[in-house]
Amino acid sequence: MNIHEYQAKEILATYGVTIQRGKVASSEAEAIDAAKTLNAETGTSWFVIKAQIHAGGRGKGKINETGSNGVVIAKGLEEVGPKARNILAGTLVTHQTGPEGKKVNKVLIAEDVYYPGASEPKEYYLSILLDRTTGQNVIMASTEGGMDIEIVAENNPEKIIKEYINPNVGLRSFQAQKVAFALGLSGVALKGMVKFIHSLYAAFEGTDSAMFEINPVLKTSDDRILAVDAKVTIDDNALFRQKDIESLRDLSEEDPLEVEAAENGLNYVKLDGNVGCMVNGAGLAMATMDMIKLAGGEPANFLDVGGGANAQTVEAGFRIILKDPNVKAILINIFGGIVRCDRVANGVVEAYKKIGSISVPIIVRLQGTNAEEGVKIIESSGLKVTSAILLKDAAERVKDVLA
Ligand code: GDP
Ligand code: MN
Repeated sequence: MNIHEYQAKEILATYGVTIQRGKVASSEAEAIDAAKTLNAETGTSWFVIKAQIHAGGRGKGKINETGSNGVVIAKGLEEVGPKARNILAGTLVTHQTGPEGKKVNKVLIAEDVYYPGASEPKEYYLSILLDRTTGQNVIMASTEGGMDIEIVAENNPEKIIKEYINPNVGLRSFQAQKVAFALGLSGVALKGMVKFIHSLYAAFEGTDSAMFEINPVLKTSDDRILAVDAKVTIDDNALFRQKDIESLRDLSEEDPLEVEAAENGLNYVKLDGNVGCMVNGAGLAMATMDMIKLAGGEPANFLDVGGGANAQTVEAGFRIILKDPNVKAILINIFGGIVRCDRVANGVVEAYKKIGSISVPIIVRLQGTNAEEGVKIIESSGLKVTSAILLKDAAERVKDVLA
């Protein structure tokens, strides 16, 4: 689960991570109020206005309706209202949103932290994530802050510092120092970065996160270390014990079909193809998608109905797949292990009748416990459903349908 920058910064602050301070606003009036409060609290007279969407690249991204960037500077209180208005209620397109963009419902009004002083402000990159190959959390850092880390990894891989954390011991002091040194810091800034890394790591563990990306971390002109941006992904499997964080979920940022699928206990990912598939088990789903491609189609989705597929889950799966206008055929591929094929077949027939107007052809392949009974149920139902027992036959039918 992803959360917004303003929510992430609030959480980080509770762990002692130093942040660029700000206040969230949903209207022009609230934006002006937020700026006034920030001015009173921090003395800042310049502000940054930042679109709150679940995607990066906002600074270079553009609002469709007004041409404003997704992150802009207001050099004075009087600029806050008009500049916030140009972002709010617009659609922001960045290299991460796709061409359709994302609607902006909130902006973060933050203090300007790039003020001039004894030294130039300098941006760094810092992230923490779980490295699945080693089974350890890894801290990644770079002096190339503010840039996409993928680009740094491609052009200057030597500029990415990696520090692996032993899960039995946790983050050791020398490791935080090593990272801060490797970033070329010294004096107050070095100390600040070491403390920043420790607090950030505590926040990462305390929130059961899967990924933190702070890009940029800023060294201000007076050597303070601040989180200017914060991308936080919480491990979905831990949300049951992170109720406070779960309540921050913004469903308007998520694909509505994926939300509906999750509500029905289905694992669903929308894809761009034309053959909808409903499968039990993730491995079988992957194999089925390969098979669809071999037959000359493209999978319209990944959908795992899980081990206990019944009439309700099959119906929910149907409804979700049918909402995708690209779907030209549906392939149901069920292996009857825990679930019996005759039960699934009844579920398909029931769901089909209940939904009523299904115009796309459906191919059902049943294999395993009571597969023959299942096929009989489907063939005697009188519905526009063809069945197969062998995967090869199912593939042929998909081919016929697409031809
Ligand atoms: P992203 O583009 O979605 O990653 O959004 P960021 O939060 O990283 O902001 C984009 C850029 O805005 C940063 O890399 C900075 O260059 C700039 N920025 C952010 N905060 C300030 C600020 O306080 N003052 C100035 N001058 N620039 C800022
Ligand atoms: Mn950023």
